[in-house]
Amino acid sequence: MDIYFYNTLTRKKEKFIPIEENKVKMYSCGPTVYKDATIGNMRTNLFQDTLRRTLEYNGYEVKQVMNITDVGHLVSDGDEGEDKILKSAREEHKTPLEIADYYTKLFFRDLERLNVETPEIICKATDHIKEMLEMVKKIMKNGYAYETSTAIYFDVSKLDKYGMLSGINLDEQKAGARVDVDPEKRNPYDFALWIKAPKEHLMKWDSPWGPSYPGWHIECSAMSTKYLGEEFDIHTGGIDLIPTHHENEIAQNIGACGKIPAHYWLHGEYLLIDGGKMSKSLGNVYLLDDIINRGYEPLVYRLFNFSCHYRGKLNFTWEGIQSASISLERLREGYQKHLLGNADVSDEEIEDLENRFKQAINDDLNMPLAMSVVWEAVRYQVQSPKIAKLLEKFDTVLGIEITKQKQKQEIPQEILELVEQRKIARAEKNWAKSDELRDLILSKGYSLKDTKDGVEINTL
Ligand code: AMP
Ligand code: ZN
Repeated sequence: MDIYFYNTLTRKKEKFIPIEENKVKMYSCGPTVYKDATIGNMRTNLFQDTLRRTLEYNGYEVKQVMNITDVGHLVSDGDEGEDKILKSAREEHKTPLEIADYYTKLFFRDLERLNVETPEIICKATDHIKEMLEMVKKIMKNGYAYETSTAIYFDVSKLDKYGMLSGINLDEQKAGARVDVDPEKRNPYDFALWIKAPKEHLMKWDSPWGPSYPGWHIECSAMSTKYLGEEFDIHTGGIDLIPTHHENEIAQNIGACGKIPAHYWLHGEYLLIDGGKMSKSLGNVYLLDDIINRGYEPLVYRLFNFSCHYRGKLNFTWEGIQSASISLERLREGYQKHLLGNADVSDEEIEDLENRFKQAINDDLNMPLAMSVVWEAVRYQVQSPKIAKLLEKFDTVLGIEITKQKQKQEIPQEILELVEQRKIARAEKNWAKSDELRDLILSKGYSLKDTKDGVEINTL
């Protein structure tokens, strides 16, 4: 069965044709490891995971590369401000390495909790300074870059067309361009490939231009070329990367070797919180831990993501999470019923469900439609182990552990007493005490969920 993806580069849905038969080479832009990853970041990772699982479901062998940005991503996505890692290091009184290691570990811990498959290659920017430098030299030699007193800039006017991914028109932009930050830049859209380091700068390397460090975009061009070659199949990331990072990656690859690196560019839309942006100032930045701390299994968030197509805005609400939690429980109960059922279902019926599920995922990862087929199977008019088997197959894409059974657990007396004390605190509207007790219970390995029938206690 054919697979179709919406390709940002061509702005249309296209049949997927890999470069090499049965193999897919895919590059996913990874995190800048300077702070906790949010559930928004996780949405992008879940989309990428669904993509690779869909390809695997279709029999492809996937080679996915993900970078870890531990240098060069400045506070503004343009080339301004401090390096994000250095800023965190300063604020948290740690070394840049400590910051990067700490947040990298937390990032992968969350991916594991969400059953996100590990990319075949995970590569850190700081481990590839040599490759990046070589690429910048090549771009320079090919006449696409120039040196200023502060940096090596990519000259976008040297390209036949800059802006093919986002569709910006340079001529129009030029007319309305605001005064530029760096007066030495030749064009407003020129971006830094390499940045000369001030004396006190912590992360810097020797280069033909003195002690310096890479710009944010060059790492992905250098590492994708190293691990996947000059041309590969799929490039993914969040939608915010289209007009900056990915546009510049394409420019760099053309400057270095004359090729657009990936054939298909797939971008995931943003997660909204209560209909708006997630931001520190609004106090609505949620981490996966916040979902767990409210007593939900991480996979509830995974299932929640399937309620929306990856190219649509998904609105996060606690009601949505609660309903995903009930759904997860019902899907698993439904699976168990089929497992113990004894009805016969014809091969044609199974095939029909399977075909429609595959059609949905192969149509640009239409997970809401795929889920409707999953529900149809779960709620089939008869119960049959054949359907249980089919659901197991679907779960290789869903990754929601549909075979998992609810565990009957013994809650220790000590925890029950703390829950009772919290109940009293809540009755007295002593929220501070109630929160304190919740934290204490959490620290002992149990989470609480307030439901209309009382408090549900779960092990973490
Ligand atoms: P940030 O940590 O904000 O630099 O985000 C890292 C990447 O995660 C971004 O490039 C986005 O692609 C993705 N991302 C950030 N916030 C969201 C969100 N609310 N929804 C989906 N993806 C997001
Ligand atoms: Zn990237």
